[in-house]
Amino acid sequence: MQETTSCPQCNTEILSRIGTNCPKCGHTISFYEGNSKKRDFSKYFAMSIILPFLAFVGIIMTSKSLVPSIIASLVFIYFAYLLCPLRKEKLFSTTYEKLFFWGIWSMFTGLLITLEYNIYGNLLGNS
Ligand SMILES: [Zn+2]
Repeated sequence: MQETTSCPQCNTEILSRIGTNCPKCGHTISFYEGNSKKRDFSKYFAMSIILPFLAFVGIIMTSKSLVPSIIASLVFIYFAYLLCPLRKEKLFSTTYEKLFFWGIWSMFTGLLITLEYNIYGNLLGNS
């Protein structure tokens, strides 16, 4: 399977291999452009690990009081939205990558929702 990218000039799907000429506008793919997708991919991969971890720490640290917990939940929802693989479809070149990120995303979302459920149960139950 050949990796494709969208032409930065006219957005036609072309091969991301360095030196490829866009049939529509004649733009030539440079080394930098061939790598930009990989860099976005690495960034997304790092964020998929770091952001859920930060959300997790934030939720644990604020679990004793209601208002900070709500703030931590909102941050978590924002992260979940930010990392949702649905928004990153373009970065995945194989089904495996797609499944891998859906796996990570569902796992951390599920885990944190369960955690939130218990925290709110405790907070609202005790007050
Ligand atoms: Zn083009």
